[in-house]
Amino acid sequence: MFKLVSKGNVKYYIITSFEETGLVRHGFSTRAGGVSEGCYGSMNLRFNCDDTRENVLENFRIMADTLDMDVSRLVLSKQVHEDNIHTVTETDAGNGISRENSFTSVDALITDKSGLPMVTLFADCVPVFFLDTKNRVAALAHSGWRGTVKRISQKTVEKMKRDYGSKAENIITAIGPSIQECHFEVSDDVAEIFTSEFGADTAVKYGDRYHVNMQLAIKKQLAESGILPDNIDDSGICTYCNSDRLFSHRKTNGKRGNMGAFIELI
Ligand SMILES: [Zn+2]
Repeated sequence: MFKLVSKGNVKYYIITSFEETGLVRHGFSTRAGGVSEGCYGSMNLRFNCDDTRENVLENFRIMADTLDMDVSRLVLSKQVHEDNIHTVTETDAGNGISRENSFTSVDALITDKSGLPMVTLFADCVPVFFLDTKNRVAALAHSGWRGTVKRISQKTVEKMKRDYGSKAENIITAIGPSIQECHFEVSDDVAEIFTSEFGADTAVKYGDRYHVNMQLAIKKQLAESGILPDNIDDSGICTYCNSDRLFSHRKTNGKRGNMGAFIELI
């Protein structure tokens, strides 16, 4: 279950199944509790926009403090809607936040090392959290529609199995706030890709336009990897429907900040 919690002015989600393991610090930010203004108000974690770098860095600092993480060690992805999964090690500490981002194409992060807090960014695309509770492996994936079609979540589970000996039944997963079928209208060709790749129930007609259910497509690929149904926690929270407290790219025609998914092995 995704639970909205507050610390000072900061509001963020925690995943109760992840919290209960005692193995990780984690969270998913909302718009609340930052220093940015206007369409970036207020917890904007997006660099390279009209918000100032100082604001974004301060927002990262506030989130890190809130989640009891070391901001100087945060490892940021480099999301380009591909399916590259980066294995995070000590040399990555600080990548993209306390120093320049040295990645070129990293839409998922994975590690079995403690003390390396990882971050991926969102504003409608789907955040997917992973934790092998037995072998202590954590991962985050950024799954927009392209990443979903490239099966980045499935590939992350396969990498956990291959590189860390993870067994599917020991992996818990969670699908965070993102644009849901109610608002994710797509062109006919995108609908066709989902129908052929994941089945007709992932692209549903609303009037004369198709809407895609990315979360269902992700659940199907997780199930194919052997993740148990009880170990897939779907927030069901639509960013577009809740744009007062969550950033939504679609709702705002791109005038928006980014939210962050954070996870660190303790
Ligand atoms: Zn919606």
